[in-house]
Amino acid sequence: MTNDSPLVREFMETGKCESCPVIDTHAHFGPFQGIYFPNVTAEDMIATMDRCGVKKLVFSSHASLIDPRRGNPISLDTCRKYPGRLYAYWSINPNYPELIPDDLSKFPFIEEFVGFKFLPSYHQYSITDKNCQPVFEYANANKCIVLCHTWGGNLYNGPQQVEEIVGKYPDMTFLMGHSLSGAWEDAFRIAKEHPNAYLELCGIYHHGGVIEQMCGQVGSHKITFGTDLPWFDPHYGIGCVLFSHIGDEDIHNILHRNAERIFGWS
Ligand SMILES: [Zn+2]
Repeated sequence: MTNDSPLVREFMETGKCESCPVIDTHAHFGPFQGIYFPNVTAEDMIATMDRCGVKKLVFSSHASLIDPRRGNPISLDTCRKYPGRLYAYWSINPNYPELIPDDLSKFPFIEEFVGFKFLPSYHQYSITDKNCQPVFEYANANKCIVLCHTWGGNLYNGPQQVEEIVGKYPDMTFLMGHSLSGAWEDAFRIAKEHPNAYLELCGIYHHGGVIEQMCGQVGSHKITFGTDLPWFDPHYGIGCVLFSHIGDEDIHNILHRNAERIFGWS
């Protein structure tokens, strides 16, 4: 497989590309039980980003996904070490609904937080159930971004749940983390029919041909790049995008332009 465009050649020769900075819209941070990560500190993360040409990265700390009250401050402290490079999602665990009013009252005053994060399959709580709705109502009213893990064949965040939520809250930008992996036709249809629904590439690069299908059936303007760093190295995902059978304009859209537009960084 080859791609001899100057953009790809620059990535291959230097590991990055000046005219095509990368924005990672789906990352994590910090240690995680039962697995060793070699690059787990903020400094490690920045070194990896510099090596791979990742200009900005939006993450949720692992701690915040399980215990938001402890973990969201960890995310904030990490962002403040590298302003302009690291941004965070405010993690919501709907199993603790008593925290949510306080979360929503603080969120707008902390600029490092650029959206909300949901992890329904870990929380075993459907995005269509009641504890999630105040966050979506807020996100819809304030045109916020939500990154939500989505999986085909899952009752907490499967096609049916995602379609219901993106239709009900059209002013909220909804990044479908992992793009409903496995339920590809549903993912493509939802991203095509709903202007606020985006495909996100984290964790699905091993599905050969999926990026070409997304570009062909939905359009590269509806796809964002993600890595799950520190789980996966950015060069793996970047390489998969570069060597998909897509054009340079599609590569720019996926690697940075869509995120710049969504997050207002252009
Ligand atoms: Zn995630």
